[in-house]
Formats: sequence, C-alpha cells, structure tokens
Amino acid sequence: DQHRVPDYLSGLNPEQREAVETLDGPVLVLAGAGTGKTRVLTTRIAHILATGRAFPSQILAVTFTNKAAREMKERIGLLVGGAVEGMPWLGTFHSIGVKLLRRHAELAGLRSDFTILDTDDVVRLIKQIIQAEGLDDKRWPAKQFAGMIDTWKNKGLDPAQIPEGDARAFANGKGRELYTAYQNRLKTLNACDFGDLLLHPIRILRTHPDILREYHQKFRYILVDEYQDTNTAQYMWLRLLAQRSPSARAANGDGEQASGSWPGDVSPASAQASAGRRDAAVSASQKQQINICCVGDDDQSIYGWRGAEVDNILRFEKDFPGAKVIKLERNYRSTAHILGAAGHLIAHNEDRLGKTLFTDRHDPEDGKVVVHAAWDSEEEARAIGEAIESLQRPDRNGKRHNLNDMAILVRASFQMREFEDRFVTLGLNYRVIGGPRFYERLEIRDAMAYFRLVCQPADDLAFERIVNTPKRGLGDTTVRNLHDYARAREIPMLAAAGDIIETDELKPKARKALFDVVADFKRWSTLLETLPHTELAEQILDESGYTAMWQNDKSAEAPGRLENLKELIRSMEQFESLRGFLEHVSLVMDAEQNEDLDAVSIMTLHSAKGLEFQTVFLPGWEEGLFPHQRALDEGGRAGLEEERRLAYVGITRAKRNCHIWFVSNRRIHGLWQSTIPSRFLDELPEAHVEVAETEQSYGGYGRGGYGQSRFDKQEPFQNAYSTPGWRRAQANRTDATRDNWGNRSGHAIERIGYGESGPRARTIEGE
Ligand code: ATP
Ligand code: MG
Repeated sequence: DQHRVPDYLSGLNPEQREAVETLDGPVLVLAGAGTGKTRVLTTRIAHILATGRAFPSQILAVTFTNKAAREMKERIGLLVGGAVEGMPWLGTFHSIGVKLLRRHAELAGLRSDFTILDTDDVVRLIKQIIQAEGLDDKRWPAKQFAGMIDTWKNKGLDPAQIPEGDARAFANGKGRELYTAYQNRLKTLNACDFGDLLLHPIRILRTHPDILREYHQKFRYILVDEYQDTNTAQYMWLRLLAQRSPSARAANGDGEQASGSWPGDVSPASAQASAGRRDAAVSASQKQQINICCVGDDDQSIYGWRGAEVDNILRFEKDFPGAKVIKLERNYRSTAHILGAAGHLIAHNEDRLGKTLFTDRHDPEDGKVVVHAAWDSEEEARAIGEAIESLQRPDRNGKRHNLNDMAILVRASFQMREFEDRFVTLGLNYRVIGGPRFYERLEIRDAMAYFRLVCQPADDLAFERIVNTPKRGLGDTTVRNLHDYARAREIPMLAAAGDIIETDELKPKARKALFDVVADFKRWSTLLETLPHTELAEQILDESGYTAMWQNDKSAEAPGRLENLKELIRSMEQFESLRGFLEHVSLVMDAEQNEDLDAVSIMTLHSAKGLEFQTVFLPGWEEGLFPHQRALDEGGRAGLEEERRLAYVGITRAKRNCHIWFVSNRRIHGLWQSTIPSRFLDELPEAHVEVAETEQSYGGYGRGGYGQSRFDKQEPFQNAYSTPGWRRAQANRTDATRDNWGNRSGHAIERIGYGESGPRARTIEGE
C-alpha cells in the first residue's frame, strides 16, 4: 500500500515531518533544545535511504562529535530496519575532511599517506621555524603563534589573506613570512595540521572545477547538525559543496568570504575563469536542487571562543535562496519546570533570535529545578554523591534510577577532580566524557611523576618522564647514556645520575643540569619526613621549574593546566602523607572506564551539547567560575552571553530533574575565599525553581541522605543559607568580598581555563 505512512514518520509532529519530507531544496531547522532537531536529521537520512533517493555513500552528514556520528548511524539502522551498509561520509568536519584530502592529497602537495600533526608537534615545528628565522623564541613563543595560525585557519585564511594587522603583530611584522614558512615545512614533511584538513580541501575544490563537479554529483544530500557552532572555514567548505547554481552565487553578492580567489594560488583572473567554467559545466550537466539541511539553535552557540560564527545561521537564507526555514517549538525532552527555568534564563540575552518552546507534558509529580547551597566544593561533591546513591535505591514504586541516566556537568575541568575522588571512595561507577580523567591529564601525570620519584627513587618511568620536563638541556642522547649506564650497573636511573655526574661521561652543560636534578631530589626526599606533604608538593613543583613552565606558556590550555595543578595540591589535603595520596591515585586510575558499565557521566558543559539525561547536576554556579571570569574579561557582554548560553545548554540536558549547586567558599591559593552565587541563579524564575531547604536532609530525595554532622563545622553556612536561599546569601556579601574579586587580576580563579573542555571533535576516526 503506497499510502501507508512508514513507521519512522508516524511518530513525528507536522513540523518535524515537513523537515524530514522536504527533501528538495535547502532546509534550515532553527529550533530550541530538545525539539527533535537531531531526530529530524536522523529520520531524514532514513527517509532518503528508505525511499531509494540515494545510496548511503551519496549522503554527506556532519555531526559535532565522533560519538554522535556513531549513534546516528545506529539509529538510522534501527529506523530503516537492518544495518545500514556504510555511510562513509557521516562524521565530524575533521573526519570527513581527512577523507577528502587523502583522495586528492597530491593537489595539496602531499602524498596520500600524509601524517596529521598533533598540537605538540605543531608547536615544536613552529619553534624550529622561529629559531631558523633568527628570532628569539622566548620573546615570540611558538605556542602563541600556533594559536594565531589556528585562528587564521578557522577563518579560512591562508598566508596571503591574513589581515595586515595580524601579520604585523607577531615577530616584528614577520607573521606572514612565518606562516608561509610553516606551510612549506608541512609540505616537506608530508604532513598537515587540523586546520589543513578543511583548508586544503577548500582550496582543492576551489581550483579544480572538475573535482568540485564530481562531488556535486556525488553528494545528493548534505546534512549538518549543531549548525550554530560551525566556524568560517567549515562554512566555506559546506557552501562550496552545496552551492551549485550560479544565480545563488550572484544573488548573495558577498564575494570576499567564500567565493573569493586565493591569492598565491591563482590570479583573480584565472580564478574567475575557472569559476565561469564551473558554472557553465553545472548548468550544462544539471540544474539540480541544493539538498542541504542544517539544524541548529542560536541559543546553544558555545564555541565562539574557538572561532564558531553563529551568524552562519542568519546568513543561511541569503546564501541558499528559496530555503525553507522550519521552526520546531514542541520540546520532547524536558519537564515544564526545566523548560521554564531555561527559557527564562536565556531571555536575559539580548543577542538572540528568540524562540518559543512548549511541552505537552504537565505531570504534577514533576519537581522544580532545585538550587542547592554547599559550604565548599568538598561538601558539594559529597552531597551530590549521596543524592546519586539515593536515586539508585528503589523508590516507593520500586523504581530505581540507572547511573547511566545521570550526569554531572561542570564549567571547568578542574571541578571534576573532587567528584572523581568522591565516587571512587563511594564505589560509584563514573565515566569522564570528552576528555581525559583528572589524574590522566598531562600536567597531573607530570606532577605525579615528580612526587613518585621523591617517594620511590627507583621509579625509572617517572624519572624518564620528568628528567627533561621542563627543558633542562638533557636531550635524548643524555637520557640514553644514562639508561645504558643504569642498566649496566643494575641500578635505578636516579642513582645512575648521581654516579655519572662524578665522571666525565657527559658534556659539561648536561652534567651541570643533571647535577641540579640529583641535588633537588636529594633535598626533597629529606623534606619528605619533616615538611607537611602539601607544602612539599608545592615546593617541588615550584623549585623544579614545572609551575613556571606553564606560567610562561602562552597557549590557551596553560591557565587550565595551572588550575588543575592547584587542584592537585588541594586534593592532597585529605591524606596523611604523599605516599597515602599516591596510593589513592593509583586506585582511582584503576577504576574501570568501561563503555557498557552503568556509570554516572562527568563532563564539561561544552561536551554535553546534544546529549540528554534523566537527572543533571550542575555544580559550581558562582561568580568567577560560572560565568567564568576570563570570558567576562575577554569577551565583555558577548562573553557573558556565551556563558549564559552554556547555562542554557546545561539546564536543557535534563529530562526530569535538574539540580544546580553553588558553594559559599572556594579555596584558592591555599586561602579560603567567600564566593558570590552566580548571577544566573538570580535570573531563574521563582515559579520553576525552588531552593533546597538545608535543614531537610536533601530536597527532593527524601530524608536520611546526610549524616548527622553535616553542619557541625559549618555554622556560617547554616546562618547564611537556611532561608531564604541564595538571595539572602547575596544580600550578605560584603564589600570586602567584592574587593577580593575585583582585585584579583592574575589570580587563580581568573585563570580557570577553558582547559581541555569541549568534545574531542578533533579526534579523527577511521584513520
Ligand atoms: P538539542 O538542541 O539539545 O541538540 P534536539 O533538538 O537535537 O536537542 P533531539 O535530541 O533530537 O532534540 O530530541 C530530544 C528528545 O526528544 C529525544 O529523546 C528524542 O527522541 C525526543 N523526540 C523528538 N521528537 C520526538 C517525537 N516526535 N516524539 C517523541 N519523542 C521525540
Ligand atoms: Mg541535537
């Protein structure tokens, strides 16, 4: 029966169906959180396949993470019944870019087996180039320049195109020269960086109309999720692949961004000629529709700091004339309270299109969003841990919650540490999504290697890890010598170092450097018995130059790493000794990270985009942390609005329960500081939000969750917050507190970095 509606369509609402069934022509779905945008994309692909309009290999579909791509593939399989054979072009921008580039590598001056450099490789290479130019790489740090190149590439700019001001800003006006030298070096090395995975294909498609035509014919359908977070380069790339009618190109009239020529590649004249040839070819071969469908939500644009351009959404209709814009307003994910809270909060942003969201769900059982106060982050972690445990127990209907249905979403990665520690103590399974676990982070491993070696001088792995970190001029040769020396005598490397500095086996410079290392460790091990271990740990990181290494580092990650190091020292306080702490960490590291395990998810708000959970915990809603001080300092009002969108993303991840936390004290630089509750708390509507009563054991979770002693040591907490919640706390804040915050330039809390937040969109799979 031809008229029977397939199962996969029957569950959709009319607008969603329209978005799925409008297969010809450009479609933009602009809609709030939880309205089924991702579901529309998935169903649309299923529909294309089920109606035989295209083969899986003719569909280009872009997701924001590799995980999202995998899930989408699985769901499509379920919808059409039976596994989908391949979907080679479903993935992140990077994973699709690498595939394109491998096919045409020679046109970018590469071989198809080119390597992709990671950030460390890139920095090392740039440093060589800076030095080769005879420049002082201390004055002109390679990391900083790597960041600049990344920004240019996000904007789709090759060396000839970077703004004059940018080029002048670095290395006495040598910015452009260095960028060119870098690109040339990459070619010689048969390598590219992440930005090139988009830039090379863009350039190839621009300059080879025949290839462009091939892809125009190949990709019958283009689909993009999370469109609000595409950057300029991704947008240019999409437009090249999607836009094939000359009238569309003429109509939008802005030549410079996507249709401009590439100086250095082709002369404007020849570029125009090739564009002309291309257009002629297109009209000759087919005047086919541009079947592109992008879905997004301007309120969820949270990667502006990494070059995302929310304006891409606004330009869509201009770029794709005749585009059908579909709005979805019914939310299927969350309760009315959660939607009410999120909607009210985001309405404080001026810079937004504005949308309606409603739900049909009106269950009197649904609880409001709950705001909780805790004395400090340790209590916050303890209370959330208890809440999770009580959710796991069967309720009066015998229903219990899976850990998989719960998530903790933090603003900055350092906040994860306390939860990870707590969950290990409780024996609660957890998994960290979108980044390494706290103790797996590079800077934490380095620091731990120092501590291990002080406690256990025979730990050669630790020794090798830090002997030249920070750089001390102890190169691979020296380390190899040392290794052989130690092997021959069957002694640990640190001991071998102690011996070898008495000989003349090493060059004077290396010998001196090693001498200092040996002396440092000798001194630290004697202090092990006398100095409090947290002080010793701090001293080790300072005296070894490790802290300074990150302080001098100009990269975007450095502030987050310093913050993590401080958190590491803080985390030691609850242990008696450095040894006790090391033992604890090895237990934490041993905790299983099994995909199939029922486990609480811990992640940054940035990585939570697109996901949903029954219960969401949002800790750390304090001024300076959330909204983040750096976003405010660097971004002004725009920065604040992006933070608010992040809060909106956080709340809208929750299906049924949303618990927001703030603490009244955070420890910064070993000193307790009073904190101010986040302004976002004040922006939540009273109708949908309640403040957890502190006398009660745990609002909404039933009594008995807390131990008796909760307030034993917490008089001020009780006084400040028992009633009426955070508003009172805010009224109580003193000028002294404000001064503390106001004067804190360069202070720890301002440096809580974006850290390693954000999904690893850059992980490339299928490689
Ligand atoms: P976000 O903006 O957070 O990415 P989204 O708009 O992509 O959200 P989805 O994740 O696609 O929303 O959908 C949210 C939830 O609503 C999912 O659990 C989805 O299965 C469900 N859903 C969407 N449409 C329908 C529908 N027509 N009927 C029932 N459930 C639906
Ligand atoms: Mg989605």
